[in-house]
Amino acid sequence: MEREADRCVSCGLCLPACPTYQKIGSEADSPRGRIALIRGALKGEIPMNERFVHHIDLCLACRACESVCPNRVGYYSLLKSVRKPIAMHSGFLARRSRSVLLSLLAHPSMLERFGGALGAARKIVPKLDAMLPEKSASFPEGECFPAKGKEIGRVGLFLGCVARISDSQTLQAALRMLNALGYTVIVPRRQTCCGALHARYGEDQSALIEKNVSAFSGLDAVVGTSSACTAELGEFLPIRDISSFLVEARGWENVEFSPLEQKIAVHDPCSLRNALKAQDAPYALLRKIPGAEVAPLGGNSQCCGSAGSYFLSHPEMANALLDDKMEKVAAVAASVVATSNVGCAMSLRSRGVKVMHPVAILARQLKER
Ligand code: SF4
Ligand code: SF4
Repeated sequence: MEREADRCVSCGLCLPACPTYQKIGSEADSPRGRIALIRGALKGEIPMNERFVHHIDLCLACRACESVCPNRVGYYSLLKSVRKPIAMHSGFLARRSRSVLLSLLAHPSMLERFGGALGAARKIVPKLDAMLPEKSASFPEGECFPAKGKEIGRVGLFLGCVARISDSQTLQAALRMLNALGYTVIVPRRQTCCGALHARYGEDQSALIEKNVSAFSGLDAVVGTSSACTAELGEFLPIRDISSFLVEARGWENVEFSPLEQKIAVHDPCSLRNALKAQDAPYALLRKIPGAEVAPLGGNSQCCGSAGSYFLSHPEMANALLDDKMEKVAAVAASVVATSNVGCAMSLRSRGVKVMHPVAILARQLKER
């Protein structure tokens, strides 16, 4: 990690891409400044004190800096290397409640039991209801969902932990599209959380990774519907974002779509753009709908501020970034915003934007033959 930090030549080309630097303008809140801080801490020259934690923790982990760095410095690896000591700086109560939350996420079957409670909570808390997609039936039971007609492949579907109870609509849309093209979909029930939040707090993810690797072994391909989870799992498992898989999939001669004379603005999640490098796929997919006008949302290279649990831990910065995004939403005047990440969708919905996953829009237009 020290050698990786030394690869930063302090050119500053990453500064214009960094949302926190753009908002605050201080070197310590820029990628170059954070790398210098991490390098100093790794070499024991800088204490990991409150000030250190403040500047590093304000990073969104959006990886926009990595995408523009001419030297390809692995900023995200450097950030991960100091996350555990940073997490230890939280107070006892914060650490305890985090540990309860993380163990709950590691047991999605327990979370599924909260599905009914979530429905009740939606009725009581209007803000929560606004953040979630339209209510839909739970994801169906079972592990094997056969292809419609002749099978052309077998694909594993990653359900996620929170997404399986909060965004069943998108998961069912993915299932419907894959089946219609001719893919049999395997949904191993032994699968678990991707571990992104565990990594965020420097917790050991190895048990989760092993469980997911074993659950999906032996399949032709695995797809995920939430780009942040897919990016996290992609470091350990050959998983692909659903849109990029579908764009290259076979079987399109088996399906037809009803026209949709509407403008669809596409928001690129940082995880899809900077980690998976698959930001073009949702556009290609949505352009399969006759009549649909597909346009990028302005400012797509800047994070919306959602960033996993960031919007909860740093609401001021998250809201400032979401304000920027809302200006772009107003400017594009689309009927719906399409995004491939569950967290970005929740943030945009919290401001009253109609948001759907690109695959959910596509599946809604799918004509049954
Ligand atoms: S991280 Fe890359 S772009 Fe940023 S200052 Fe270092 S070398 Fe330059
Ligand atoms: S990951 Fe994002 S917020 Fe963090 S330093 Fe890089 S560009 Fe800035």
